[in-house]
Amino acid sequence: MTNVKEPSFRESVDLMFNRAVSLMDLPPGLEEKIRVCNSTYTVRFGVRLRGKMQTFTGYRSVHSEHMEPVKGGIRYAANVHQDEVEALAALMTYKCALVETPFGGSKGGLRIDPRQYEEHELELITRRFAYELAKRDLIHPSQNVPAPDMGTGEREMAWIADQYARMNTTDINARACVTGKPLNAGGIAGRVEATGRGVQYALREFFRDPRDIEKAGLSGGLDGKRVIVQGLGNVGYHAAKFLAQEDGAKIIGIIERDGALFDTGGLDVEAVHEWLSKHGGVAGFPNAAVHAEGAAVLEAECDILIPAALEGVINLENAARISAPLIIEAANGPVTAGADDILRRKGTVIIPDMYANAGGVTVSYFEWVKNLSHIRFGRMQRRQEEARHQLVVDELERLSDSLGKTWSLTPDFKQKYLRGADELELVRSGLDDTMRIAYQSMREVWHGRSDVEDLRTAAYLVAIDRVASSYRAKGL
Ligand code: NAD
Repeated sequence: MTNVKEPSFRESVDLMFNRAVSLMDLPPGLEEKIRVCNSTYTVRFGVRLRGKMQTFTGYRSVHSEHMEPVKGGIRYAANVHQDEVEALAALMTYKCALVETPFGGSKGGLRIDPRQYEEHELELITRRFAYELAKRDLIHPSQNVPAPDMGTGEREMAWIADQYARMNTTDINARACVTGKPLNAGGIAGRVEATGRGVQYALREFFRDPRDIEKAGLSGGLDGKRVIVQGLGNVGYHAAKFLAQEDGAKIIGIIERDGALFDTGGLDVEAVHEWLSKHGGVAGFPNAAVHAEGAAVLEAECDILIPAALEGVINLENAARISAPLIIEAANGPVTAGADDILRRKGTVIIPDMYANAGGVTVSYFEWVKNLSHIRFGRMQRRQEEARHQLVVDELERLSDSLGKTWSLTPDFKQKYLRGADELELVRSGLDDTMRIAYQSMREVWHGRSDVEDLRTAAYLVAIDRVASSYRAKGL
């Protein structure tokens, strides 16, 4: 149960912002200009379903237009409200600045439980919502570009893109009006996995610096680390899968809506994911202990805790009992400002949401660029790259022949070296680079300034400074 003194999500974001700006020297008034949300549009629209008119409420907030278009996902959830959407839009501004994607911050929400509707009903609702937003340029390739978030995915993005195209039949850049689309509707390879992949790259960068590992009281690398994940949706599933399959981490806990699975020997992420898709929950999953009180597993002993479901799950009530020394905020706002204070005092290291889940917007940026350039990444260079590598391999083999074949290239090396990069590899490479560089900018502030105790404050400092520079460059 949440303590009554708990700040709201929006207040948490403001408190964290204020803590950072108190360490900065911003011109008078600029701090307020950066903090406030520029506008929020509320729409109520009707859709005729099951023989009667149903009214839905949706929001689109624009936090900062220091760069345009503005960018941010659209969330479908029964409890979406204006404050939450505005907090998420603010986080988008800072996130985009931190990972250097050229966007302002925005976010949208529709108050709906998508599980209560059939697919064709969701399509009608989504198209109508998209129509209302596009009519006001709140969906637009050069002004406001949505993406998936909780409760939405490729399917909804394809409907939105199609709706926009129907309303703007001569706009050659129509596909760039939304990201997170399926590949066959103008999407990009690697977008679905992007946020979870970004979480993996973030952790890899964390484990590259012994100072960071020591701050969390850990040792070694990701191999064998015990991980608990909350929410096995898009973000949580991909993060857990990649960490287990590629880095040797052990997923010992998976927390879902209806309970949690726990096994110190490690859970089979793929099997749990399949079970979840089929049964809608973790209950009844064989081969692992099922805890009906899922949230309690957040407190279990582990090395890395990945909240990847929703906001406010680590709060004043449970913060003191969280035993993970390292938390990576894959969800937006999972740790409240009050809990953040408690955890900081305990020495828990938190890799903040603003950075940790920025993989989604980074690959969305690549998708937007792809849509505007109307060409798949790698299409021009791939075969040329392969031909040049073939030249090197031929020359090395000729040398080997002339030296009596005393050495040779291994088939594995030849195969890897000869293959030119396809779009997926280029996207992963761009994402990896982005996540490393953004982490390094936070790390520099974290270790370099004696008045900065944590990565979250460091992230805000880097991001706010960039937004402020952008305002200054405009003469504001
Ligand atoms: P999703 O809808 O695909 O998955 C959410 C998962 O959390 C689902 O499996 C759901 O059953 C589970 N869940 C919901 N309530 C829960 C609860 N009380 N306890 C435990 N599990 C619960 O959503 P997603 O896209 O993976 O987003 C998750 C979080 O990541 C959100 O905070 C979102 O804002 C953030 N995020 C998503 C993206 C993206 O690209 N999808 C990008 C950046 C940030």
